[in-house]
Amino acid sequence: MASKRAFIFLGPPGAGKGTQAKRIAKQLGVPHLSTGDLMRDAVARGTDLGKIVGPIMQRGELVSDDLVMKMVEERLAQPNCSGGCLFDGFPRTLAQAEGLDAILRRSGFGQPVVVDLDVSHDKLLRRLTGRRTCSVNGEIYNIYDAPPKVEGVCDNDGGKLVQRADDTAEIVQQRLAAYDRATKPLADYYRSQGVLQRVDASASVDDVGRALLGIVMGAQS
Ligand code: ADP
Ligand code: AMP
Repeated sequence: MASKRAFIFLGPPGAGKGTQAKRIAKQLGVPHLSTGDLMRDAVARGTDLGKIVGPIMQRGELVSDDLVMKMVEERLAQPNCSGGCLFDGFPRTLAQAEGLDAILRRSGFGQPVVVDLDVSHDKLLRRLTGRRTCSVNGEIYNIYDAPPKVEGVCDNDGGKLVQRADDTAEIVQQRLAAYDRATKPLADYYRSQGVLQRVDASASVDDVGRALLGIVMGAQS
């Protein structure tokens, strides 16, 4: 990699950030850092952090900036992040974006590459309520648009597919409201820094992937 770089995938819940981040992080050779995955892991392990954030996530609300920033700083301090990383689901508030800017400056990173995955809200309900995730490797499926070969079973490792507890129609509305209120304004924040790019994420997984890869590879050259 030319220089250490942070890549940020912005966009509403269900835009396809996790689906694309898993693939593109591999292609870039940087870790995929999903704050949602880190917190679900803490909940599953029953840690102190998990006990605090579990009920907040279950209501579809955002976890406090302090807790999120602490978790991200700890993760970024690990050696495999020293060459860069791809953020998915972070930052989600202006305070988190400003906190991340300060960390990146301190750690000698260049400006982040920020891509907004743009999808209209009416498509997101189907994506989110249809999402299923492999309980073993985290592979993401959709019962309507990206089903596994055998219902309920991961194609790659035979793991059981599970539905996230916050992917119910009712909680999805709360999460979309939190996105509109707290996260959507980040597009303007990054646009004013001249680092925002946009991808039409209502296209197919492969087409969105190609568009994203073009942007992140372009930023590397
Ligand atoms: P996010 O991480 O942004 O919340 P995910 O990557 O988990 O979103 O995707 C949400 C759901 O939408 C999953 O079920 C996934 O299979 C599906 N999905 C992702 N990208 C697309 C796409 N381009 N077209 C149709 N469905 C998609
Ligand atoms: P996600 O996996 O990105 O859909 O996130 C699932 C849930 O985790 C969100 O609805 C929030 O409750 C919480 N969460 C994840 N990332 C953040 C973040 N950066 N800031 C605040 N809350 C977050």
